[in-house]
Amino acid sequence: MSPENGLRDEIALLGKSMFDRGLTHASTGNISVRLEDGGWLMTPTGSCLGRLDPARISRLDKDGNHVGGDKPTVETFLHMAVYEQRATAGAIVHLHSTHSVAVSCLKDVNPRNVLPPITAYYAMKVGDLPLVPFFPPGSIDLARAVKEMASDHHAVLLANHGPVVAGKSLADAVYATEELEETAKLYLMLRGLETSFLTPEQVADLKVRFPG
Ligand SMILES: [Zn+2]
Repeated sequence: MSPENGLRDEIALLGKSMFDRGLTHASTGNISVRLEDGGWLMTPTGSCLGRLDPARISRLDKDGNHVGGDKPTVETFLHMAVYEQRATAGAIVHLHSTHSVAVSCLKDVNPRNVLPPITAYYAMKVGDLPLVPFFPPGSIDLARAVKEMASDHHAVLLANHGPVVAGKSLADAVYATEELEETAKLYLMLRGLETSFLTPEQVADLKVRFPG
């Protein structure tokens, strides 16, 4: 099997896995992967991540032109904005996952870092999570806002919309997205309860122990 076909199968497999566990619903959410020739695979517009046909996943060339498969997601611009800023990004996952979206609607969060470091794994896999102000999906303003933050952050949260998470590999991007969603769930469970979060010193120590 070619590396590209292997990645097509992996996108469909992980898309179904996330759909089956309720991390994405209906035709929301999209996944992309950077290919060795500089092009991309992108999930098609209007597609359900639970029922992707690997052969119909959109193929883009290195300039972002659609060259194969179904028409790519209307949120392609979000993915491209992150790839432009992050040379190490090999894959990107964007979901409308319920708990992350709920947190993205809260008025009292810190927009520079929406979620506190509840667990070590969150601090290691996601870290600081800035909130991107609300702009309509597909708008140039949203692309510009994401691009501004993507150079310093591999994960951002779109207000009243959902997370965009980059990883070195597709598995990395999926796992970090899942960690973000579970942490958003924990955060909502803990609201109103006296809670100990990790201290800045503990987070700094984790970054030394588990770099990158
Ligand atoms: Zn979206």
